[in-house]
Amino acid sequence: MVRRRVIKINSDKCIGCGECIPDCPEGALQLIDGKVRLVNDLFCDGLAACIGSCPYDAITIEEREAKEYDERKVMEVPCCRGFLKLVKDAIKLAKRHIPFKCIVVGINGEIIFEKAIE
Ligand code: SF4
Repeated sequence: MVRRRVIKINSDKCIGCGECIPDCPEGALQLIDGKVRLVNDLFCDGLAACIGSCPYDAITIEEREAKEYDERKVMEVPCCRGFLKLVKDAIKLAKRHIPFKCIVVGINGEIIFEKAIE
């Protein structure tokens, strides 16, 4: 454990719209029971790319004791977490605008949210 910056989600303000999820390339956010949650401290790099995407000011940053950010763990997780980060890193390296869309799919296959990623 180290003292560092980690996001904090106010579940009273969160309406579960999912807009913040694509803006976390580390995949640290998940919708659980209609609210977004930080799934594990080690996925949050503390840069808070998600804060500006919440229209309800439900996400803030705090400094507290937390597990260290672990990029290897982020990349190990299959599906959207590691993949979204890989895509964003590849686009950054390519130094070109390559449009792609992130789609958050619910457990029953319904589309909860979709967003073009810049
Ligand atoms: S954008 Fe804000 S309100 Fe929407 S799911 Fe994320 S934290 Fe909740």
